[in-house]
Amino acid sequence: MLLTNLKQGEVGVITRVKGIGAFRKRIMEMGFIVGKPVKVIRKAPLKDPVEYCILGYNVSIRNSEAELIEVEKISDDSIDEICSKCDKAEAEAVIGDFNNKHKAQYNKLYLSFVGNPNSGKTTLFNKIGRANERVGNYAGVTVAAKELNITKNGIDYKITDLPGTYSLTAYSPEELFVRDYILKNLPDVVVNVVDATNLERSLYLTTQLIDMDIKVVLALNMYDEFEQSGNTLDYEYLGKLIGIPIVPTVATRGRGIHNLLKKAADVAHDKDKTVRHIHINYGETIEKAISEIRAELKKADDVAIFNRVSERFFAIKLIEKDPEVVKLAQDLSNFQSIDNVVKRNIKTIEKQYGDTAENIFTDAKYAFISGALKETLKRKKKLNANQSDKIDNILTNKYLGIPIFLFFMWLTFFTTFKIGAYPQSWIESFVIWLSGIFIKNFPDTLVNHLIVDGILAGVGGVLAFLPNILILYFFISLMEDTGYMARAVFIMDKFMHKIGLHGKSFIPLLMGFGCNVPAIMSTRIIESKRDRLITMLINPFMSCSARLPVYVLFITAFFNKYQGTILFSIYISGILIAVLTALLLQKTLFKKIDIPFVMELPPYRMPTVRNTVFQMINRTNMYLKKIGGIILIASVIIWVLNYFPRNFEGAKEYEAKIAKLETTISELSSQESQNSAKLAAVQDSIRIISAEKKYKQQENSYIGRVGHFIEPAMKPLGFDWKMSVAVLTGVAAKEVVVGTLGVLYHSPEAESATLVDNLKRQYEINEDFTGKSPRLVAISFMIFILIYFPCVGVIAAISRESGSWKWALFVVLYSTGLAYVVSLLIYQTGSIF
Ligand code: GDP
Ligand code: MG
Repeated sequence: MLLTNLKQGEVGVITRVKGIGAFRKRIMEMGFIVGKPVKVIRKAPLKDPVEYCILGYNVSIRNSEAELIEVEKISDDSIDEICSKCDKAEAEAVIGDFNNKHKAQYNKLYLSFVGNPNSGKTTLFNKIGRANERVGNYAGVTVAAKELNITKNGIDYKITDLPGTYSLTAYSPEELFVRDYILKNLPDVVVNVVDATNLERSLYLTTQLIDMDIKVVLALNMYDEFEQSGNTLDYEYLGKLIGIPIVPTVATRGRGIHNLLKKAADVAHDKDKTVRHIHINYGETIEKAISEIRAELKKADDVAIFNRVSERFFAIKLIEKDPEVVKLAQDLSNFQSIDNVVKRNIKTIEKQYGDTAENIFTDAKYAFISGALKETLKRKKKLNANQSDKIDNILTNKYLGIPIFLFFMWLTFFTTFKIGAYPQSWIESFVIWLSGIFIKNFPDTLVNHLIVDGILAGVGGVLAFLPNILILYFFISLMEDTGYMARAVFIMDKFMHKIGLHGKSFIPLLMGFGCNVPAIMSTRIIESKRDRLITMLINPFMSCSARLPVYVLFITAFFNKYQGTILFSIYISGILIAVLTALLLQKTLFKKIDIPFVMELPPYRMPTVRNTVFQMINRTNMYLKKIGGIILIASVIIWVLNYFPRNFEGAKEYEAKIAKLETTISELSSQESQNSAKLAAVQDSIRIISAEKKYKQQENSYIGRVGHFIEPAMKPLGFDWKMSVAVLTGVAAKEVVVGTLGVLYHSPEAESATLVDNLKRQYEINEDFTGKSPRLVAISFMIFILIYFPCVGVIAAISRESGSWKWALFVVLYSTGLAYVVSLLIYQTGSIF
């Protein structure tokens, strides 16, 4: 009977706790455990919740929760005793006596057999049943479930044999029946009978059981035929990968049945270490949709349904437009807003992939299966290799894999630099042309200065790097879409294990090259907390695309050879630092625990123009928003701080000098015999004096004072005060570094100069630089930008995702300290030579 059927004052002993993961865990933590006595303390008609006494405590639970607890009514006065005393120690003693007395009564286990047609379910069922011949039949709606009861090892098993299905969607009556059966009856353990000779197809159903977050044991049936085929399967490791214990069986000869039943009992009683609830990763867009829908589902008034059905499964089915689940959702109080969220997400998903959400789920499931089998199944004879396998044989080859991968990465950075240079120069020319219009056609006012020297110099400087970033994203999206990214995970897995991480950590790290913020959020695909944290902490060393403009700027200005290679080396340095940091963290703060995870292996596919364009438009939007927002504001602020105060010591002298030279010019040009050589010389002096004046003004400006204040600390690294300021402003966002340099190095005297020109010219007039190799400064600066304080966005993401400010603070101190040390070493040793 159900706990709800007990009347006030009655006592029962718990025989079964149904329901899924989170609910089960909570209710069991409250003390509702199989074998424990429970008494109804207070129960009024129509009253919810009801008060119970369990383990000497009084607790209240809802009727919808009590409905998931099965009890057997008993009369035992000893229970009254503990409930009246409410003393834990005494209660335990009484319960101990009680358990000895009532042992057999609650050793019940409810198993259901689920599997593909012809996987051997019925054979297995009959073999188990023959030991005890009570095999009964009862009819379902259109299909039937057979039921038997046997007692083995002191446990009463109730076993049902369900119709064979390939899937648990709501398409065929069998599928719907099996799914409904599981959700309504909530068996303790589902025994997934799998044909070992046909693993790929059979495991598809398993992935759906994983989505449902229910307890599963996998019977690896037809193991005799599998062994004869000469293939081998590391089924224990496969079990660890998918979080489901696997027992090989030969149903026809009854082999493995004893183990299977024992394993099922262990799983039911939470005694099996292999059991782990995993998520099959459906990709960024779908995972985001799932979590948005889940958040919406949580807002419903009555969420009792999620004690039986996993929210994740529910959300997935809503995205698949499963009619049965949509019907269930209609009963929820906030169906309208759930429906809106679902529809909006479906639209985004289908727009991005150009395919139905259902197909995308199917593809991801097969990718999961291939990945899991690639690590565990060794085939004696290669099947007639398909296209994907042939490509895989080369790309994931033991010796070729890593060199090929490095080549692709190098190609990415090379192209980013080379091809990006063309549109980059067009944008630069456009910004200069625009500045020219303002300078020529508008009066020389404060506003004009703000537009030209502040906004256009700052925002324009950053805008110029949009093409580079787009190309980088183009390559990342290409690697994702073709399926190469998934291979990269495989290739890197061994290596990642060496630094104490899993191949899966590789994706967030790779994504870090785009932007560290979504990369840190994507660490959610890593199930192990420890791996997640390490991956998060080393992620900022993956040089994000916002840092790219800084490198491109300095490399263009100071290096005329091996530009792509230098860029590539900077990225490699970041990776190296990440690796060393991971090793360090592993040796000090985190102990190594190895939990295996499946690396999904989708088939190779031609990338679609649609998806690539979608991704690139997305990124462009994000970049432009950033430019229009934080970078615009930062540019204006920096300009203001740089522009004021206007007066400084010696300003008058400069003005006088310039005025004097200007009169000389007018004199010279009014003379009959024009001395053009002399004229040019004077004009030159004006240019130099004006530049000097501006430089002095800047030095004296508010930002100059800040820069000069920190300059002594930065000088050992080779930075002038402008670079020091750029380092400070880069804390907001790394794009601001270039924006800042754009404003600070912008000189109104040379209006047609690009930032690269300005930077080069800086070395001609800035005495701080004379004698120093600008290349050394450039390298020191680029490395500093690579390593130091990521940006406020990343710090916020780390503290949010790690759940503690402690780790965010750690990243701030560690990265900035390390950047300082490394740049110091580079600059100081470089200066010796
Ligand atoms: P169901 O559709 O899942 O109920 O599968 P059945 O129990 O009807 O079995 C399908 C066929 O597979 C039958 O001919 C069985 O004899 C055979 N079979 C079942 N289990 C095994 C096994 O472990 N090894 C071998 N060699 N054959 C098996
Ligand atoms: Mg059958």
